[in-house]
Amino acid sequence: MLLTITSTNAPATDLGYLLHKNPSRLQSFPLSFGQAHVFYPEATNERCTAALLLDVDPVALVRNRRGPAGEGGTLDQYVNDRPYVASSFLSVAIARVLGSALAGRSKGRTELTEVRMPLEAKISVLPCRGGEAFLRRLFEPLGYEVIAKGNELDEKFPEWGASSYYTVELRGHVRLQDLLTHIYVLIPVLDNEKHYWVGDDEVEKLLRHGSGWLAAHPEKEEITKRYLKYRRDLAREALARLVDEESPDPDLTEKAHNTEEEAIERPLNLNEQRINAVMAALKSCGAKRVVDLGCGEGKLLRALLEDRSIDEIVGLDVSYRALQIAQDRLRLDRMPTRQRERLKLIQGSLMYRDKRLAGYDAATVIEVIEHLDQPRLTAFERVLFEFAKPAAVVLTTPNVEYNARFETLPAGKLRHKDHRFEWTREQFKDWSDGIAKQHGYEVRLLPVGPEDPLVGAPTQMAVFNLIQS
Ligand code: SAH
Repeated sequence: MLLTITSTNAPATDLGYLLHKNPSRLQSFPLSFGQAHVFYPEATNERCTAALLLDVDPVALVRNRRGPAGEGGTLDQYVNDRPYVASSFLSVAIARVLGSALAGRSKGRTELTEVRMPLEAKISVLPCRGGEAFLRRLFEPLGYEVIAKGNELDEKFPEWGASSYYTVELRGHVRLQDLLTHIYVLIPVLDNEKHYWVGDDEVEKLLRHGSGWLAAHPEKEEITKRYLKYRRDLAREALARLVDEESPDPDLTEKAHNTEEEAIERPLNLNEQRINAVMAALKSCGAKRVVDLGCGEGKLLRALLEDRSIDEIVGLDVSYRALQIAQDRLRLDRMPTRQRERLKLIQGSLMYRDKRLAGYDAATVIEVIEHLDQPRLTAFERVLFEFAKPAAVVLTTPNVEYNARFETLPAGKLRHKDHRFEWTREQFKDWSDGIAKQHGYEVRLLPVGPEDPLVGAPTQMAVFNLIQS
């Protein structure tokens, strides 16, 4: 397995500083699954190529139980493609042998690490599950020109047809760190075999190396799923956290602004009135199993726990920090086991279909939708009303008309800096009616808090009930 990286950015031999490897020397590194060698087939002022040759030892793989499972018999354990193809072993080798460059460090030449330059990587050979089209979908959005040459299964027997192995060249104008990072993450994504490393810290690794590009990548879901080897729980967590990355840290913005919103609404004791209204609506639906979406620090969860008619409660939020605060405030660790078993806190995103949310009597969505911009709101509508499809949904959002009545809120301002919108009663009615019609629910709208004859109540609530067919 051979990876070469070529720079044509004069003086091209600067590549040696960036890789922390001297162009005039051959260096070898023992790894648990074989040997890695680094050398430079060419090193001139105009063009410099570094090669990483990976010599995977199938016997070492078997010894360390890292090879293929050998389902076709013991022979598979020894005779397989691992020594010849780019796989997660290449990623491990990059991290071990070119770790500083992968982390964007350069001894003595720090300024170089930030320079975008014409770079080419050539990988011989790369197994592409999903074919050339998928290979392109991975690298082209990152700005690379992709040149892929398919290899025949066996050139002596052309009738056997094409293999799934490609010789791949990637050309881009990027920082070396970017190129290494993209290869590090995306090679295992293309590979067919299980890589042996999937564990919880892989989520951290993926997010760390994906920082700055993965959240906006059109194939981020597929990349995450495959990188985490279809461990759905891990993929879900990673995707939820990528959502965080796309919008500036929700944990931080939430915390700072919640206090502001509370201060504006406090004189009305609006929070308590909202919770009472939601609990009454849940009662009217006869809900016993309830999921609170965007549960935040758990204000509604407390009321749900105190109500003995509710058997099962799930609180979901994208923010770990909010869930931790909820756990502390509700003193979950000190609760008797029977009580504690009624409540589950889960981290997840409302942007993604999630089996864990299916089959509940009711979902509550309290002061959450106004935090979602238009594309996210659309995704959320499908996640909740089409896929999770609870028998009832109780949803609240501010009534913007009432803002004029808040003495401490300057005219024209929303109640919370992170609110993407606040709706009039008419806008909320239009939205709710549309959702109900589209997804087979009937909906009632109710005011929450003191009603003003002109501008209505400060909070508006919609109660959706699934029409049973
Ligand atoms: N329902 C709570 C919190 C409202 S604040 C209450 O009434 O007090 C909005 C909450 O929605 C925050 O906790 C925020 O982390 C969460 N949230 C925002 N976007 C989300 C998303 N995409 N998926 C899940 N939760 C989200």
